[in-house]
Formats: sequence, C-alpha cells, structure tokens
Amino acid sequence: MSTFEYVVGLVLVVWGLVLFIATPLALAHSRTEHDHGPDCWWCHPHLPGRRREQQ
Ligand SMILES: [Zn+2]
Repeated sequence: MSTFEYVVGLVLVVWGLVLFIATPLALAHSRTEHDHGPDCWWCHPHLPGRRREQQ
C-alpha cells in the first residue's frame, strides 16, 4: 500500500464521516425556519476572512 493510496483512503473516510454528520444537521435546518441564534455555526458560519456575513 503506497502513501498515495493511504491518503486517498483517509480522505474518503473523513469525507464520508463529514457527510454522515452533516446530513442530519442539514435536514434539521431545512425543516425549521427559526433562527438558532448567533452561536449556531450552521446559520452563522464563522469562516475566516468573511466578516461581511456577520449580522
Ligand atoms: Zn442553525
């Protein structure tokens, strides 16, 4: 098993895990319209270098 194959497999596993965690969150937010508050990272993503979206 080469290092490249190891990295590709690791990325696939991590990506699958992210989708597995994000899917229920996305479904929950698609069904509710109320704001979860500024602490909700989904409603208010705290991405670096994007200060315009803070409201
Ligand atoms: Zn939210």
